Amino acid sequence: MALVIVMEPSRPSFVNITDRLVSFCFGVLYWQMGEVKDNDAYEEELLDYEEEVENAPDSVSAKAAAESAKKGYVGIHSSGFRDFLLKPELLRAIVDSGFEHPSEVQHECIPQAILGMDVLCQAKSGMGKTAVFVLSTLQQIEPVAGQVAALVLCHTRELAYQICHEFERFSTYLPDIKVAVFYGGVHIKVHKDILKNECPHIVVGTPGRILALARDKDLGLKNVRHFILDECDKMLESLDMRRDVQQIFKMTPHDKQVMMFSATLSKEIRPVCKKFMQDPMEIYVDDEAKLTLHGLVQHYIKLTEMEKNRKLNDLLDALDFNQVVIFVKSVNRAAELNKLLVECNFPSICIHSGMSQEERLTRYKGFKEGHKRILVATDLVGRGIDIERVNIVINYDMPDSADTYLHRVGRAGRFGTKGLAITFVSSASDSDVLNQVQARFEVDIKELPEQIDTSTYSKIPSSLYLLY
Ligand code: ADP
Repeated sequence: MALVIVMEPSRPSFVNITDRLVSFCFGVLYWQMGEVKDNDAYEEELLDYEEEVENAPDSVSAKAAAESAKKGYVGIHSSGFRDFLLKPELLRAIVDSGFEHPSEVQHECIPQAILGMDVLCQAKSGMGKTAVFVLSTLQQIEPVAGQVAALVLCHTRELAYQICHEFERFSTYLPDIKVAVFYGGVHIKVHKDILKNECPHIVVGTPGRILALARDKDLGLKNVRHFILDECDKMLESLDMRRDVQQIFKMTPHDKQVMMFSATLSKEIRPVCKKFMQDPMEIYVDDEAKLTLHGLVQHYIKLTEMEKNRKLNDLLDALDFNQVVIFVKSVNRAAELNKLLVECNFPSICIHSGMSQEERLTRYKGFKEGHKRILVATDLVGRGIDIERVNIVINYDMPDSADTYLHRVGRAGRFGTKGLAITFVSSASDSDVLNQVQARFEVDIKELPEQIDTSTYSKIPSSLYLLY
């Protein structure tokens, strides 16, 4: 079980902070929203996907899992990882990682996945989906020199890096298996040299770079036996990414295992996913309506755009956080808000797509290791990213959809730990999204009360904190 490490909240000095924060409001009002991609160009090529909308069958979530879900958020199963009959080298690495019991999603998927079945899986954020495909791939793979046997695609570089790290962690005692991660922003020659000189057996990457390497014939995909898409709905909903995934997919052999994972798999996207699969095992650990995290306390605050910074200041001062992620809607807003927080002595850092890849990764690692306690970010880290110590998420800007909301707030309360999500609602469209979230995920998000019991979202000894 992941432990939340409790750190004393620092008390930065807030000289002139209110003035600065208020004046910042005027600036941010006029920022542009994030980049909008023109997908029309790809529509025609992808008719095959657009035309067919089947009715996906109802959830086949296993009854046992449902039963255990009722008993508690993290399903504790009497079976252990040992019962999966994994290689001893893997079991050893699992013990080293401190995993005691498989989570529900692991319990449901791993036994089938290690038999080579195709898997389409939806389970809540933070419940260990990564270990499902990492362990089942490592279990099955028989490394052959010079051959890539498994390919994992995901939508951001940070997530690719994180997944590669999970493969490395669980393959500690399988020294023959080599893993590499390839994504844009790094000179392509570096990747070509790796493929030439020490060809990995498992490749993790983002679609653009993987496609470039495959087209140039540096990355051979003829021997791929396991094809995995993490955050598959995100990858297939965006038509440009779907096109790349499709092209990469076509370069792999017909006979292979395909596995796809996400916390959100709408009824519309499921048939698209299944087009890549052969009679997959569909696992929906929770009904979509139940996807909200039980350990997570969720509130909203109604305020004007102008009041956001003052409120943020109050919250950062009053709340007990180990680490907090503040989501904003554009690169500019991330950079400016972070600048302001740093000027006001908050231990803040930001990550967005406007910075160099090296810088992005250094910052991501720095935050993951706990060097900074506040991360201001765009949706770049809204999905998949696992930072154990994050116990608070603040939606400074409302996400654009209910799905994005669910993924963002899932950055707190990982693997059943407690967490708090606070969302700023400053317009009619913000209220609409909040209503969609509540309707879709059957969650009652209440206005932030004047006092909040720290023990509801933190492992710090229970006390009442005044927020106003
Ligand atoms: P998801 O992909 O479902 O959002 P992750 O795979 O990122 O979730 O896992 C969330 C966290 O839980 C990670 O820190 C991971 O190491 C941890 N974790 C996963 N499985 C277990 C387990 N069986 N026991 C303890 N911790 C686990």
